[in-house]
Amino acid sequence: MRNYAEITKRLEHLEVPIEILGTVHNYPIHQIHLSSSADTPRPILVTGGVHGDEPAGVEAVLQFLERDNTTLLKMFSFIVIPCINPYGYVHNTRETVNGVDINRAFEAEDVAEVIIVKKVLAQTQFSLAIDFHEDYDATGFYLYEGKRDEKYIGPDLATAAKTIGPIDPEDPGEDAPNLAEGVYKVADSWGTEGLAPYLLHFHSEHVIISETPTVWQLEQRAALHLMVLDTALSTLSEKEL
Ligand SMILES: [Zn+2]
Repeated sequence: MRNYAEITKRLEHLEVPIEILGTVHNYPIHQIHLSSSADTPRPILVTGGVHGDEPAGVEAVLQFLERDNTTLLKMFSFIVIPCINPYGYVHNTRETVNGVDINRAFEAEDVAEVIIVKKVLAQTQFSLAIDFHEDYDATGFYLYEGKRDEKYIGPDLATAAKTIGPIDPEDPGEDAPNLAEGVYKVADSWGTEGLAPYLLHFHSEHVIISETPTVWQLEQRAALHLMVLDTALSTLSEKEL
């Protein structure tokens, strides 16, 4: 069993307000909104813990919140949900308390975690949404990318992330077209049941799913997720200048 109170404690140490989006099986799902008062920066969605047995995503989100993002906040604002599946996180299960894989449930109307996340999405169109995951079978990292204009940046992300660890040599076998080494396209065949494809269809012009191998140390996995996020943000800001 993992201690969810430790996550809450880390969030309470932040100098920004924490919002509770809802409570599932007595565990609150938190949201943090990071923005500076200047201009109208582009909104970015950062999420972790959709699968409860993938703690590196939650760790990466917490580390992102705990560091100084002043420079990024000149160009972006962030909606951050550190742990979408708190019950799964505590009990180290992929699914919810009801045995539901949240990442296959975004078309369902009776999944509490999905209802809670959709409340946030209803208000915003994101420039980028990134969702942190892990792979128990992988030996290296890989990522999925979906982009409405199909101008993919995944190859640049993979190149940068190789400074943290190797790319997984195996195809993850999710029917996703291979765009480059370690980069797969969010497949049309996935429909809109997963968080990232749902976002791509309805709420975000660009989505990334970052996948780290569970065999790596937690710190290395979290570092890889943050490298993918930071490289994506720096690529986005360069392209718009
Ligand atoms: Zn996952």
